Amino acid sequence: MVMIRVLDNATIDKIAAGEVIERPASAVKELVENSLDAGAREITIKIIGSGKKLIQIIDDGQGMMPSDAELAFQRHATSKLSSIEDLDTISTMGFRGEALSSIASVSEVTISTRHESQEVGTCLTFQGGKIVEKGELGMGSGTNIQIKDLFSNVPARLKFLKGDRVEMSHIIRIVTERALANPNVSFTLLNDDVEVINCRASQHLEDRFLDIFGRKAAKASVKIDAGHTDILVHGILAKPEISKPSRDDLHIFVNLRPISNRMLAAAVADGYAGMLMKNRHPVGVIFIQIPADKVDINVHPSKKDAKFSDPKPIANLLKEAVAEALGNTDLIREVGGDFQRTLESRAYVGQPPARRIDRDMSDSAGVRPAISRTSTHWPPKPRSTPSQTHLFKEDAETCEDHEVPGSGPMPSMVPIGQIINTYILAQSGKDLLIIDQHAAHERVMLERLRNADTKITQQKLITPITLELGPRERELVDHYRPILEDAGFTIEPFGRTTYLVRAVPVFSGSLEEAENILAMVQELAEIGKARSIETKRDEILQLIACHSSIRAGEKLSMGRMKRLISEMHELDNPFNCAHGRPTIIKMTDRDLEKMFKRIV
Ligand code: ADP
Ligand code: MG
Repeated sequence: MVMIRVLDNATIDKIAAGEVIERPASAVKELVENSLDAGAREITIKIIGSGKKLIQIIDDGQGMMPSDAELAFQRHATSKLSSIEDLDTISTMGFRGEALSSIASVSEVTISTRHESQEVGTCLTFQGGKIVEKGELGMGSGTNIQIKDLFSNVPARLKFLKGDRVEMSHIIRIVTERALANPNVSFTLLNDDVEVINCRASQHLEDRFLDIFGRKAAKASVKIDAGHTDILVHGILAKPEISKPSRDDLHIFVNLRPISNRMLAAAVADGYAGMLMKNRHPVGVIFIQIPADKVDINVHPSKKDAKFSDPKPIANLLKEAVAEALGNTDLIREVGGDFQRTLESRAYVGQPPARRIDRDMSDSAGVRPAISRTSTHWPPKPRSTPSQTHLFKEDAETCEDHEVPGSGPMPSMVPIGQIINTYILAQSGKDLLIIDQHAAHERVMLERLRNADTKITQQKLITPITLELGPRERELVDHYRPILEDAGFTIEPFGRTTYLVRAVPVFSGSLEEAENILAMVQELAEIGKARSIETKRDEILQLIACHSSIRAGEKLSMGRMKRLISEMHELDNPFNCAHGRPTIIKMTDRDLEKMFKRIV
């Protein structure tokens, strides 16, 4: 026989709580938002056991009056809306007066709070939502709330939680988002007493960007700023070389609420055009400001998408703003006005062209002036069959033999030669291309390392390389050994301070020398080991790529130049090195004509 039963209040509360507080991160979100609502300038979040053991939030906000502190834990108790007209605010801001009561019904809560106007603070302890202890204490104005043993009375919920690492990553994301949206508030997040986030308060989003994304990203960042009737977009993005393998490092806010919206994230990525490689995603923060009636933000804690009445213009504005900020109209950088100005600023200006050529040419011994002093035509017609000059005659073949056909975004190219053992010159149609051999090869190496799904093929060394390492270096090598091994290295301890390198990645030219490996190991120190190894993987691959690639100053044969160009042709984005510097610049025939004053 089925019997209908009315659930008791405690059970009802627990069910309701499950909707608001899904996991430790939702409690953190609600509590941090309360601190921000209370005008806090400094918020400290302490987490033990990924939030299941303890969540403690300390703020210096306005605090609560003694009576309010008790009331705040009743369901639907809020100080943030007073009348039915305010209902609109409920939907935009999410004030439902449910958070504290929900949290208290599924944990043990201790709160100490002192309102600005009070002499002493109030301290309350709740168990299963009921007050079990009450007292007074001396404290600064603000609130200190501790949530212990979250969900210990809801085993079903506890079972549904993911592992510590996942739950912690949700918490980090929540705090990161609030920190990005509130640069003027200082945030500290401690995980088992280890500092995970530490952002000092600042008037500038740039400072917050630096604290959240790190110095490397900050150095390679661009500001986004665009507007279009009633939509405003601003923020900071890292240039494509700082891209990440997941979408998690792009934070988009609509009217200061963090949202995850595929269309907007795609619009940002589109702004990077071909500069982002396959499976790489942008890093940074974007704020979109739009009239409240044009957007519906679902404020339910578990869903945070935004629906727009007219999404297209927003996506377009976003994409254009990003593209403009990154200046990626042409992927191969053209020699801009600056270069021309430097040439022009020499003594040439103001002299008649014919004499100018003469004087210049007579300076460089052995080169016959192409245009004689008596030339009556200016500019002279180009010769109908231009002959190409080898800068280096070491190869017998003609340049045409080395033509690399176009592929993907890269045009076909014929290498001409190398200058100062550092740059490769190539002709592409009527353009002169100048390739930075180190930057280009580094990009090639990095892509090979990144794309190797499994372990990279090793090349065993006949004579192992011996490395003498200091204590810090030894610790780094041990710490990063799994990644180094995946990347093709076999490095083994050999005695107390010595390590043997028995194998290197198969394609790594320069890494067969001890000093290059040593330099790489020393740079591991700059990466540090604070975060997880996985998040460091890409930085290590960049390091390996840098140290295994062709150097500036290295003389290359025609064949090697051609091979490098072919390797570049295989990449999705050959245009930037791992550090974001361009790998190729271009001078068009028009640029040359202008510089030689054939045209003005
Ligand atoms: P809501 O934020 O929707 O009002 P909550 O349950 O989160 O509901 O909080 C209830 C009330 O408790 C708030 O309206 C506020 O008055 C008070 N409160 C909560 N946290 C703090 C805090 N850190 N500082 C000051 N007051 C707070
Ligand atoms: Mg709240």
